[in-house]
Amino acid sequence: MSAAVPAPETFGFQAEISQLLDLIINTFYSNKEIFLRELISNGSDALDKIRYSALTDPAQLESEKDLYIRITPNLEEKTLTIRDTGIGMTKADLVNNLGTIAKSGTKSFMEALSSGADISMIGQFGVGFYSAYLVAERVQVTTKHNDDEQYIWESAAGGTFTITPDTEGEQLGRGTSLKLFLKEDQLEYLDEKKIKEIVKKHSEFISYPIQLVVSKETEKDVEEEEEVDESKEENKIEEIDDEDKPKEKKTKKVKEITTENEELNKTKPLWTRNPQDVTPEEYSSFYKSLSNDWEDHLAVKHFSVEGQLEFKAIIYVPKRAPFDLFESKKKRNNIKLYVRRVFIMDDCEDLIPEYLNFVRGIVDSEDLPLNISRETLQQNKILKVIRKNIVKKCMDMFTEIAEDKDNFAKFYEAFGKNLKLGIHEDAQNRAKLAEFLRFNSTKSGEEMTSLKDYITRKPEIQKSIYYLTGESLSSVRDSPFLEVLKKKGFEVLLLVDPIDEYAVTQLKEFDGLKLVCVSKEGLELEETDEEKAAREADVTKFEDLCAAIKENLGDKVEKVVVSNRITDSPCVLVTGQFGWSSNMERIMKAQALRDSSMSSYMASKKTMELNPNNPIIIELKNKVAEDKADKTVRDLTFLLYETSLLTSGFTLDDPSSFAARINRMISLGLSIDSDVADAPEAAADEDDMPSLVEESGSMEEVD
Ligand code: ADP
Ligand code: MG
Repeated sequence: MSAAVPAPETFGFQAEISQLLDLIINTFYSNKEIFLRELISNGSDALDKIRYSALTDPAQLESEKDLYIRITPNLEEKTLTIRDTGIGMTKADLVNNLGTIAKSGTKSFMEALSSGADISMIGQFGVGFYSAYLVAERVQVTTKHNDDEQYIWESAAGGTFTITPDTEGEQLGRGTSLKLFLKEDQLEYLDEKKIKEIVKKHSEFISYPIQLVVSKETEKDVEEEEEVDESKEENKIEEIDDEDKPKEKKTKKVKEITTENEELNKTKPLWTRNPQDVTPEEYSSFYKSLSNDWEDHLAVKHFSVEGQLEFKAIIYVPKRAPFDLFESKKKRNNIKLYVRRVFIMDDCEDLIPEYLNFVRGIVDSEDLPLNISRETLQQNKILKVIRKNIVKKCMDMFTEIAEDKDNFAKFYEAFGKNLKLGIHEDAQNRAKLAEFLRFNSTKSGEEMTSLKDYITRKPEIQKSIYYLTGESLSSVRDSPFLEVLKKKGFEVLLLVDPIDEYAVTQLKEFDGLKLVCVSKEGLELEETDEEKAAREADVTKFEDLCAAIKENLGDKVEKVVVSNRITDSPCVLVTGQFGWSSNMERIMKAQALRDSSMSSYMASKKTMELNPNNPIIIELKNKVAEDKADKTVRDLTFLLYETSLLTSGFTLDDPSSFAARINRMISLGLSIDSDVADAPEAAADEDDMPSLVEESGSMEEVD
């Protein structure tokens, strides 16, 4: 090395990346070949980027016009080089992308590994580059970006890497060349056959030529005196005696080893082929190359649209949700856009709605202009038509998945949230999406039910679809809101996913039947004439009690009425039809999604509903009839109110005064004198409870 060579600058790997490298190097793992897939995929991404930027600025390509990926094994050096003519990296890119800034996937990947995930999943977590260390003890990345000089990044792991300006070495023009110094036991990756096999298996559908530099042995006649071209350094020439040759010509045969670039992926783009000629294996390996997924897809649709507008597309549903499905910073979708076989971009927001961001695939349009920009795409009519078609095909694909119960269960577990978001966002497909919804219910046992099946089970007289929302199945299964409905044989859907309530509120009806929340005001239950007459009689009978309770509770409740929905519990608290349910109130409180003015507006105005057949309520009614100002009524009212807050799914505003009331009852049950009982609590509660101890009336029933 000459003295003019610039000194390397040393950087430390970010801690998590360092840890990841240790893991990659030290974990016993046999399927190491996936490193090549990852590095080729990075090359392909880099080529996509330069091609895209050249669409608006063709001069970008001048530094290197050919777009390719080239693999060069070197048996003597024991190195494998993967070179691409992509966008390359600036010095800043090298520092940031290869070592100092950890992506969210770094940690997620290590967590996944420790819970049994496979190293081959690395690409999905956005840290594929480091898979080079599965086979290499040292990696050298030489790279040239149009906006910067050529640099060499180098690391043998161990916590640091270096970056050196590359003034001496062969100049790349543009792109990146990755040289892997293979570990002694990984030399099989220098073998041409092995490389071809791996590329065929994992990278067949990369849309740039992947060349393998292969050695060929040829025989050639050379005139005896002729000087062998010594400039061809890679050619080894060896003389062969040849006595058959006519003496006068004075030629001899030489064996030459020449190198040659062999293209490994000559297949036509899969989407341009007739679906009938594509095998399931081809779809699956195309899917894997598109998605970095290590598993097969769950479903695929390959279609073309012709006529006024022409495009071809292949779309896939994966088997699982990616680890970052709902991460806000990630790409909006996973459909690659091509125009007449030229890759344009892979995050075109307008190709597919956000709730379908888990669908993977490609679209190749014949009509869009090649130099289309993100801005003009938004307004583009062609794109709108493409989008509509893709969404429709997605629905078809989901319908097909639904034909197999097990597959659909997998699908729903992975992407049910997306479907529910779709109900919220996509008015046009709302009804269709609703067919895919599955919920637990009071009749479905362990299984989930579709709305369609719900309808087939419902009694003739029932005219609505009933649902109850809550935090968990166990918290809603025995809710007092279900009492009458169970008795009548009306099935109630139990919605326990926070997003369910958004979706169902938006959906409003299914197949002509209204979706009715059983914890909200105005529940109209189909009733017989006798039931109706009895209820109306109760309303008059309990008028006074309702008024007395309302007076006691003040503005804690909006009103107090006789209930038609409970048969066992003494009372429940229902919310306004257009306000939040107790469940929504809980979610909103937890997320602090709205400002407080919004929550005071939406937060449930509660109506207390009394069960006219419950002994407590009957006894209370009698007490009010005897003496309107009876102090016990007021005290019991508060206890009933607070207990029903809990059973109706609300939280207590003031748990300690509730506890104080309960403690006083416990004291009573144990016949402890109230004055001896916990003094501070008693004091806090003085206002509400002074007479409770004297009046032991219906205490046992409050249990
Ligand atoms: P991912 O490809 O999912 O982003 P990787 O770990 O494979 O994750 O690569 C990290 C980053 O390094 C890439 O996003 C890219 O910015 C950069 N990079 C890797 N290889 C190349 C390459 N051949 N050319 C240009 N940039 C590259
Ligand atoms: Mg990658």
